Amino acid sequence: MFDSEFDLIARYFSHLGASRSDVLLGVGDDCALLRPPPGMDLALSTDTLVAGQHFFADVDPEALGHKCLAVNLSDLAAMGARPAWASLALTLPEVDHAWLAGFAQGLGQLAEQAGIALVGGDTTRGALSIGIQVQGLLPAGQGLRRSGAQAGDLICVSGSLGEAALALRQLQQGLEPEPGMRQRLERPRPRLRLGQRLLGLAHACIDISDGLLADLGHICSASGLAAEIQLADLPCAPQLKTDGDWCLPLSGGDDYELCFTLAADQAERLPRLAAELGLPLSIIGRMRAGQGIDCRLADGSLYRPSQRGFDHFHDSS
Ligand code: ADP
Ligand code: MG
Repeated sequence: MFDSEFDLIARYFSHLGASRSDVLLGVGDDCALLRPPPGMDLALSTDTLVAGQHFFADVDPEALGHKCLAVNLSDLAAMGARPAWASLALTLPEVDHAWLAGFAQGLGQLAEQAGIALVGGDTTRGALSIGIQVQGLLPAGQGLRRSGAQAGDLICVSGSLGEAALALRQLQQGLEPEPGMRQRLERPRPRLRLGQRLLGLAHACIDISDGLLADLGHICSASGLAAEIQLADLPCAPQLKTDGDWCLPLSGGDDYELCFTLAADQAERLPRLAAELGLPLSIIGRMRAGQGIDCRLADGSLYRPSQRGFDHFHDSS
């Protein structure tokens, strides 16, 4: 594509992330060669971020590099997988070295922390878009699915909900979000350790990318069950609770927390796990027979959310 396509790849993307002994051949040949350990299942996922759709085109490139990988790692976390290898399909309008250096820095730093190696990709010219594929490893047969919830299970979420959506709303209104909220939007932390600790413990798990209602809704439909959640138990910042508008924590999106279900008699294990991980884990409701999600206010009455979650194709059919 560019005169310097190979220079550009060599300069920014040839050695990003963790160095792993199971990478027999990384960036530079027609394929990467990887050697998965025997007895492990491979978890594979792809997410693409498009300028103007998923991020502001002028966002800090380092934060963007972080986020593009983080949203993919979040999918691995939701299955309980340990990150191993990634590839990057990068479409760029032009070669901007300052931008590329920042982007590679953000991506590379998170990749190193997560233990994932960038082993290949593709570089083309066009409207800015970033597609990442990640692969992770799981003990055979143990991957956490959306379909495993059982009636009576407790519904749990990690961290807190709605802060990324609040930051996005403020930026769209031309306001400056609090630094902590902005971090939630621009530098989500994939809950990889939690996902791995939920293997053999959670019955079902999903990462919350499109809002709690939408994503818990996937657990419900995949498991053939209904959910009842208590709004007062939702973990969210005080400024999200005050006006009785539950839209951001319920439907905001971009949280990248995990929502999982577990047998009620396992509840006592949550506080220790939360302390071990330094991550709040909250019980917000229960699975039951039926379909759909009921949201209860503190007085027991039913709350009707106005918006269910983010769906790219919702208005275009
Ligand atoms: P091919 O023509 O065989 O598809 P390419 O010329 O597209 O190979 O890429 C050359 C090498 O660089 C390959 O190993 C490919 O995986 C890697 N690569 C290309 N773009 C990227 C990128 N953005 N990040 C990481 N590796 C990349
Ligand atoms: Mg080739």
